[in-house]
Amino acid sequence: MALLEITDLHASLVEEKVEILKGVNLKIEKGQIHAVMGPNGSGKSTLANVIMGNPKYKVTEGDIRFEGESILELPVDQRAKRGIFLSFQHPQEISGVRLRKFLISAKQAMGGKEPLLKLNREIEDIAEEVALNKEFLDRYLNLGFSGGEKKKSEILQFGFLKPKLAILDEIDSGLDVDALRTIAEAINKFKNDGMSILLITHYQRLLDYITPDHVHVYVNGQIITSDGPELARKIEEKGYTFLLEGIER
Ligand code: ADP
Ligand code: MG
Ligand code: MG
Repeated sequence: MALLEITDLHASLVEEKVEILKGVNLKIEKGQIHAVMGPNGSGKSTLANVIMGNPKYKVTEGDIRFEGESILELPVDQRAKRGIFLSFQHPQEISGVRLRKFLISAKQAMGGKEPLLKLNREIEDIAEEVALNKEFLDRYLNLGFSGGEKKKSEILQFGFLKPKLAILDEIDSGLDVDALRTIAEAINKFKNDGMSILLITHYQRLLDYITPDHVHVYVNGQIITSDGPELARKIEEKGYTFLLEGIER
């Protein structure tokens, strides 16, 4: 049984009747990394949000199954509890909630019962792994964090919460090469621990450090082609247009 299986998924904004997802098919097994690459505005973030259950979007056709069960009727928190995590392209700043406290509450909401001392130690270890200075743990969530620090805080969150599926939406944007490498190493480690990862990215450069099991090209609300990691290089060299030749849009 696949961890995540998306079949003929169509979705639109609740407020406008414009269809953004136009029949997405995607199957992710446990421990796999899938990269979804596509031009801006093609609906990549929408796909991520629809998998997570963002109520701004409405599924009009198709299904999303997680561990064999449809999750379409589940609200965001129930999906999180089952083990789906979404790292946002633009992480929210939340005043009044400190990162450390946020992590511990989220873990407890997912049913975690480890003693605080152990949780705190684990948080500090992962912060070190992603090269996020420990002082950030006691700051308000993302408030005044630089772009790179926000992304590291996102990686820390999923490294600590250990979801079964992590959806990373443009985790590479705004990162310098050192931060990119650090984050890639952390992602590779989580994969080796058995986590499945859906890596949404506009650029190929993250894939210099992470080798996905499958690469999907996503254009205008649909996956138009899928292949191994070499597909990402082709896109880097030739752009997306070569794939669009002969495809009706
Ligand atoms: P990508 O992440 O590939 O750049 P998005 O999923 O963000 O693409 O957006 C796809 C299209 O849907 C865009 O035309 C965008 O303007 C529109 N869209 C997505 N979400 C919203 C929203 N919440 N409100 C208005 N338009 C949206
Ligand atoms: Mg269809
Ligand atoms: Mg996006």
